[in-house]
Amino acid sequence: MAEDCIFCKIINGEFNTEFVYENEHLVVFKDIHPKAPIHLLVVPKIHAASLNELDDKNLLGELLLGVKEVTKKIGLNSYRTVINTGKEAGQEVFHLHIHVLGK
Ligand code: AMP
Ligand code: ZN
Repeated sequence: MAEDCIFCKIINGEFNTEFVYENEHLVVFKDIHPKAPIHLLVVPKIHAASLNELDDKNLLGELLLGVKEVTKKIGLNSYRTVINTGKEAGQEVFHLHIHVLGK
């Protein structure tokens, strides 16, 4: 839990955000400003500012498995995944997340 991290607060349940999917490693919720009809964020429960700060191979694998699990759950076979790393690449929230965009 990092102070002043919006995604840590969401994970902590501070905003009553609905989780589309959750397991021991990650949560998935809807992006508040969707850029596609389906726009989900796959977010590790531990705080890592970006992909550059996460070296845990198991958790890195779990995040991609989480993408597969949530898309399977909602019946989305075709989708795009995006990870923005660093301000210049457009990262706005500095808690690692994978965008899942579909339809
Ligand atoms: P990025 O630019 O990769 O850091 O993406 C951050 C994403 O988080 C953006 O698409 C925002 O719309 C989304 N976002 C920011 N705050 C919230 C929130 N409270 N709930 C859901 N999505 C959020
Ligand atoms: Zn965080």
